[in-house]
Amino acid sequence: MKNIKYIGTRNKESTATASEAILKGICEDGGLFIPEEFPVLDKSLEELADLSYQDLAYEILKLYLTDFTEEELRYCINGAYDSKFDTPAIAPVVKKADVSILELFHGRTIAFKDMALSILPYLMKTSAKKNGLDKEIVILTATSGDTGKAALEGFASVEGIQIIVFFPEDGVSPVQKLQMTTQEGANTCVVGIKGNFDDAQSAVKTIFTDAALGKELSEKGFVFSSANSINIGRLVPQVVYYFQAYLQMVKMGEIKLGEEINVTVPTGNFGNILAGYFAKKMGLPVKTFICASNENKVLYDFFTTGVYNKNRDFNVTTSPSMDILISSNLERLLCIASGQEKTKTLMESLNKEGKYELDLTGGDIKGEYATEEETAAAIKDMFEKSGYVLDTHTAVAYAAYEKYKAQTGDETPAVIVSTASPYKFTKDVLCSIDEKYADVDFFSLMNELEKISGVEIPAPIRGIESRAILHKTVIERDVIKEFVKDHLTK
Ligand SMILES: *Cc1c(COP(=O)(O)O)cnc(C)c1O
Repeated sequence: MKNIKYIGTRNKESTATASEAILKGICEDGGLFIPEEFPVLDKSLEELADLSYQDLAYEILKLYLTDFTEEELRYCINGAYDSKFDTPAIAPVVKKADVSILELFHGRTIAFKDMALSILPYLMKTSAKKNGLDKEIVILTATSGDTGKAALEGFASVEGIQIIVFFPEDGVSPVQKLQMTTQEGANTCVVGIKGNFDDAQSAVKTIFTDAALGKELSEKGFVFSSANSINIGRLVPQVVYYFQAYLQMVKMGEIKLGEEINVTVPTGNFGNILAGYFAKKMGLPVKTFICASNENKVLYDFFTTGVYNKNRDFNVTTSPSMDILISSNLERLLCIASGQEKTKTLMESLNKEGKYELDLTGGDIKGEYATEEETAAAIKDMFEKSGYVLDTHTAVAYAAYEKYKAQTGDETPAVIVSTASPYKFTKDVLCSIDEKYADVDFFSLMNELEKISGVEIPAPIRGIESRAILHKTVIERDVIKEFVKDHLTK
């Protein structure tokens, strides 16, 4: 097997082994790590067809994380993809109203971040051991809702790691807040901030770059790290489910082995879709990726005009995890398409002017988007055709896929990537189906959704309203640094 080296997107000379890249998260010059070349499968699709999710994960991950032993990888994979997921398939494909849907929401937080954040803690701990890191890792995360909970679930009770999550006290949904404040695990710490998400995020960033604090805590045996989506340890595990989806479609008789498919992904930070692109580079037969955006359609504009421009109004939509104007992982695609030198200039231009130009309009990733009305209509349409209830993010993808098909006449068998359970966005989902739900309280809505969808309320959120609140701390945003110091050294 070929050793894979990781190089920076802004400078080829920033190199790292896989485990070093996982520990570092980001290059010193602000660039992201990409594999120097894409590994090719050492088995045919046919040979992979009957593997369990865990064995398939091993076949993919061993090609990327080449400084991990088989024993280490299997330990990480088996620890992550176990009964925390509510189905042994881990990422099942279902066929509804003429499309295949890849469900990535069967983990503990009922959204797709679990796919990577359930394995990242294992990869990080193993990387620390391999590199002789003798300090306790402290994960600091600012969250607007989903990432914080998925990181907490992943890192809870992992030895040698502590996790501290800051969230805006008045800026997350009732379910999201309860998910975080009822978190168990002696190594977890959840803190409400009097301020918005940006306040929490900037405070955390200042801590990362505070050299004096870093030194002081290092002497006490701590080192900071991040569970952010630009870590290669979050990207690579996501490649697995694209293979899994394809092989399931073959089994279901939707396609023949070797036949090409189209893939539609509801996109925010560009991590999920990029993992699919990696799968294609490794030989998965994908014709076209449809990159689906909501009304914050920076990516749609980029893929249709060649101009990326974040200077525009920010829209708050019913698919909040896609409300993003800077898609960090796109930098990796830019580098694969145009090289380090060009990428460095593009990123400088993004920092200075908020925009850049690069023409990828003729490539195999096409942009599409859905308005709020189209998204709501897609939920209603799918429900009426099949009784299946889409979450708001997946509905953006479904609406975008239908628009793509109408415009291009491309009838290639397709899979839509579903990133969240409808239970996470109960109100918006139900109101799309019938306005009568507008005045019903949140927790009664869960019962209503159970009734009309026939899908049980997922165990992780069942009865969440009566669980014990374990984290009650709320602090002013300007004392975050002191809080972290006290918490670690008390
Ligand atoms: C994070 C998230 C997305 C966006 O994924 P990216 O990898 O950032 O493009 C889409 N849907 C849901 C529900 C998410 O949590």
